[in-house]
Amino acid sequence: MAQREWVEKDFYKVLGVASDADEKEIKRAARKILADNHPDRNPGNAEAEERYKAASEAKEVLTDAAKRKEYDETRRLFAGGGFGRGRFSGGGGGFGGFGGDGAQEFNLNDLFDAAGQAGGANIGDLFGGLFGRGAQQPRPTRPRRGNDLETETELSFLEATKGVAMPLRLTSPAPCTNCHGSGARPGTSPKVCPNCNGAGVISRNQGAFGFSEPCTECRGSGSIIENPCEECKGTGVTTRTRTINVRIPPGVEDGQRIRLAGQGEAGLRGAPSGDLYVTVHVRPDKVFGRNGDDLTVSVPVSFHELALGTTLSVPTLEGKVGVRVPKGTSDGRILRVRGRGVPKRGGGHGDLLVTVKVAVPPNLEGDAAEALEAYAKAERASGFDPRAGWAGNV
Ligand SMILES: [Zn+2]
Ligand SMILES: [Zn+2]
Repeated sequence: MAQREWVEKDFYKVLGVASDADEKEIKRAARKILADNHPDRNPGNAEAEERYKAASEAKEVLTDAAKRKEYDETRRLFAGGGFGRGRFSGGGGGFGGFGGDGAQEFNLNDLFDAAGQAGGANIGDLFGGLFGRGAQQPRPTRPRRGNDLETETELSFLEATKGVAMPLRLTSPAPCTNCHGSGARPGTSPKVCPNCNGAGVISRNQGAFGFSEPCTECRGSGSIIENPCEECKGTGVTTRTRTINVRIPPGVEDGQRIRLAGQGEAGLRGAPSGDLYVTVHVRPDKVFGRNGDDLTVSVPVSFHELALGTTLSVPTLEGKVGVRVPKGTSDGRILRVRGRGVPKRGGGHGDLLVTVKVAVPPNLEGDAAEALEAYAKAERASGFDPRAGWAGNV
């Protein structure tokens, strides 16, 4: 049984045990199923025969610690029916591991280590079906869409609101360019395993039944690499860093995850590329804020500007705009300028929201102080009471 079949087979389910069951539990469960479905006790029962075979296979893998570890990792790697989305941290392109659909993650390096300890080039098997290992392997080679990639980037407020074209560095696993993914040193090629003739499995007959088990010579891959490629140490896979130019559309918000179609990994054998997902982090701006598609800005004003009215010169994303403050405007009022906000996804812009905030002179002296005192007197004479009608008047 080749490792690539592990993806489809749930040995824990076959034995009816939890995926964290210990060896004792597994053996006990297997013993019972094997006894109940033994061919001697079920002559001519095809279903029992199937169960017996499945349980033998499951037992063989799950009671061998190294095989079980490999099995678990293979299953985890392919959880969710695919290679999952790569998770890559930082525009600088560190590399966090693969995830099924975010539910499970593990570090690719762990996998390499585990594969190394288990004794050989079996990491190549994991990737073999993805990248293609060599012409002589009887493997289906249907076109496969490239993997989706994930990365993050930080933008300034203005870049996020106006959109920006920027280079983005991505690091992802890719077929080794030195050996073209074969794992064999250039000029050599993987040899068909003489033990299993390239099948990856050895068939063994035992009484009425034929059993298959992974070939121990090639560890199920069907081929043997005599001269491993120096670049990838025979795995056929290396990490590749590339810089792509992406266009971040205008109006993205902090924490938003945007999809750039076709910017992921290249597909195999002419299949379409995957997509690139970019999570954007937006640095706050000193002048502007955002409220959805509306751009917000706070403008300091003098009391007399609110009382008498004025026109303020207010910055926007595209130059300045004159904002009229009507006579008698109260402090903290929000003035709306239509269409001068953040670009909207469907076209057009949000509004600019201008908040006026009174700035009080800290040390009023001389003419201005005298004038203000005269004003205060006149205000009282006019009958204006700032606290008239105030709910705090009790
Ligand atoms: Zn290589
Ligand atoms: Zn073999």
